[in-house]
Amino acid sequence: MGKVDFQDRICRPCCMFFVEGEKEEMACLGARVAERLLAAGRIDTAHVNAAEKNRSVWEASRQDLGETLCKKCEFRAEDCDFQSPQPADDLEPCGGYIVLAHLLENRIIEQADIEDVL
Ligand code: SF4
Ligand code: SF4
Repeated sequence: MGKVDFQDRICRPCCMFFVEGEKEEMACLGARVAERLLAAGRIDTAHVNAAEKNRSVWEASRQDLGETLCKKCEFRAEDCDFQSPQPADDLEPCGGYIVLAHLLENRIIEQADIEDVL
């Protein structure tokens, strides 16, 4: 998947951190994992498009995705406070996390699917 596709499918619709026209040197791990699941055919675009912003869905996966995903994400240290002990009330996770939490909640994937593409 090209960078434009990936930004169109995951970053622009789902991520509060996406800035139109800004050149990102590197994608967060959440977006990269979602992209790999798409590239592997494990999920399709319709699954991604169905991901809505839902705080209770994010919270349900906070611990599991914190361990499998966020702990290994290069953005966590400097850019992303979602997994910090006291995140701001209005803080959202990245678009990749939002997609993955939706997929887990709806049993479209399991944690093992994420681990397979890390
Ligand atoms: S933080 Fe991740 S999902 Fe958000 S714009 Fe950057 S690469 Fe995309
Ligand atoms: S929520 Fe933050 S730490 Fe977790 S994958 Fe997304 S950018 Fe990385």
